[in-house]
Amino acid sequence: MRVAVIGAGIVGLACAEELVRCGHDVRVFDPDPGGGATRAAAGMLAPAGEAWHGETDLLRLGVASARLWPEYAARLQAASGVDIDLRTAGTLLVGQDHDDLQQMRRTLEVLATQGIAFQELDRREARAHEPTLSRVAGATLLPEDHNVNPRLVAEALLCLLGDRVVRARATVLDGGVAFADGTEFGCDAVVVATGAEARSLVPQVRPVRGETIRLRGADRPSRVLRARVHGEPVYVVPRAGGEVVVGATEEEHASEPVATLGAVVRLLHAARTLVPGLESADVVEITARHRPGTPDNGPLLGVTDRPGAVPQLLAVGHYRGGVLLAPLTAQVIRAHVEDGEIPAVARPFAPSRFGPHQICTPADHRKDAMS
Ligand SMILES: Cc1cc2nc3c(=O)[nH]c(=O)nc-3n(C[C@H](O)[C@H](O)[C@H](O)COP(=O)(O)OP(=O)(O)OC[C@H]3O[C@@H](n4cnc5c(N)ncnc54)[C@H](O)[C@@H]3O)c2cc1C
Repeated sequence: MRVAVIGAGIVGLACAEELVRCGHDVRVFDPDPGGGATRAAAGMLAPAGEAWHGETDLLRLGVASARLWPEYAARLQAASGVDIDLRTAGTLLVGQDHDDLQQMRRTLEVLATQGIAFQELDRREARAHEPTLSRVAGATLLPEDHNVNPRLVAEALLCLLGDRVVRARATVLDGGVAFADGTEFGCDAVVVATGAEARSLVPQVRPVRGETIRLRGADRPSRVLRARVHGEPVYVVPRAGGEVVVGATEEEHASEPVATLGAVVRLLHAARTLVPGLESADVVEITARHRPGTPDNGPLLGVTDRPGAVPQLLAVGHYRGGVLLAPLTAQVIRAHVEDGEIPAVARPFAPSRFGPHQICTPADHRKDAMS
């Protein structure tokens, strides 16, 4: 099959690489590959840490994708020569005070009903596991929540895709995709993977601003810390080369995503309270991007019902979990392209769950404007 993928974030790149690996003729279009939410992401592969009441389908999807990561990472590294910094030391869910601990236990209730492993630690055990922590009320070890460096994953995928990645903005047409200069690319299927920008095509996707801060050179934790610090949510993610990522804010926000002073101060204050050794760290970078949110926090994976000459597939709306969900999304999209069996955990995430679903093309927008 000749497939056009629009968007070279972690999701579009993973879909494209999977299709190429399985023998398809693929082109990926993006004016700034890897420059969307992928650039801001902390890279936590954290289905357990993200678990919440009423989101068990999403939890199952996340667990299934997390299980693919070790093999996926090994394959990407071997094929591209890029070390993507997969870390498998698990995650500590930390409560700074007793109210924070109570809030954390709400996540544990969900994990217990789903049979997901965790180990509760008192304040002394928490410090023994992670000596960089301040005097916290308690913690829980999530042994299966790991992390990678999403920028390096994108680099590895870009390396494997080579000149199949074309630096151009594209729009969906009935028979393929079109570019600003009026040229077209005909194909057998189109995959839309444009992250938060999908909102112009898919009305269910909405932008949710998130900010992360990169630090270097401090007394860093040995594993991911996800915490509430006197009510403020914060995470601290260690990476190779002495880097630490602190994140993240979450705010409904439609215009250009820029970092705000208030958000940065709150995040840094919470991170330093949690890990006092961060006090002397260098601030390397502050990044703000839009997460692609959806009404139920789950992605839209599958075929749209838009009548057209070629199938139009959505791989959008991954919200807080696009890095985690990338390998499984790639398998689901390949199954759709090849008319194969869709993994059962992905079936609740068909675009049709939001009712009749259509991609809005530029022609539709023009029609709406005229009516
Ligand atoms: C602060 C922050 C922290 C996060 N932390 C984590 C985390 O720890 N773990 C996790 O799993 N997820 C995390 N996420 C979420 C994750 O980053 C997203 O879910 C993921 O990046 C979505 O991937 P994507 O490829 O769909 O979108 P993006 O990464 O946004 O990529 C979309 C791409 O599409 C391109 N594009 C848009 N329109 C067009 C067009 N018309 N033509 C061509 N190209 C186009 C853009 O240039 C962009 O490169 C975080 C996000 C943020 C903002």
